Amino acid sequence: MKFRDLFTYKDPVREFYEKQEIYPLSEMMAGLSAIPEKEFGKYAFFRDPLERRFSRERKQELTIRALECGSEYAQFTKKKYQDITAQLAAQRLGVSVSYPERPSNGGQVLFARFTEPDKIEVYLDCVRKGKLLVREYGLEMVLGEIDIRELLLWHELFHVLELRNKDTIFTKTEKIELWKKPFSNRSVIGCLSEIAAMKFAAEMTGSRFSPFVLDVLLVYGYDQRAACALYDEMMECIMENDD
Ligand SMILES: [Zn+2]
Repeated sequence: MKFRDLFTYKDPVREFYEKQEIYPLSEMMAGLSAIPEKEFGKYAFFRDPLERRFSRERKQELTIRALECGSEYAQFTKKKYQDITAQLAAQRLGVSVSYPERPSNGGQVLFARFTEPDKIEVYLDCVRKGKLLVREYGLEMVLGEIDIRELLLWHELFHVLELRNKDTIFTKTEKIELWKKPFSNRSVIGCLSEIAAMKFAAEMTGSRFSPFVLDVLLVYGYDQRAACALYDEMMECIMENDD
């Protein structure tokens, strides 16, 4: 079952939901954390409304360039600030960070949010639930020592850096033409920002796995079936046409 089907359409949801198989969390984490980071580009593209505009080869090429972009910004940040924490980096960047329990508008599970130009919220309820799961299921074995809050904050800080460097950064300058001439409407490709932000967060925290893995972990804290549907969706994207 795909997460998308579970939550997009109103009627079949219940029916799909009850049929969703539940897998052991530690197996999902072990499986996902062993997958090379570039593979998660397929999942990121799958969730992008513009997905169909790209060939498989083009998606791969853009994924690699987005990963390089995230890595480049991480290397630059480390060189400039050495062992800086995400909280301190936010301060240096003049970004206000707050830690509410959960998003004020409710709705879909969300872990953190960047509001332009300089406001970040990291939701502590999901961080706490994630931490508990790591401890309860002994996930340090597969994920290493992870600081979820720090990882989420670095991810959002990448979006700040993107905004501040929007004229030069790959994730904002790489565009796709949506309309044919004579009208032109060139759009940014949203999922490239996500791929780069995940890479940036991984390098800043020394994470051994792609932080996309955390999507499943953090959703699991709220809804095991939904997390397993998300896992299925990721695996389907990753295995798709893999020849
Ligand atoms: Zn993001």
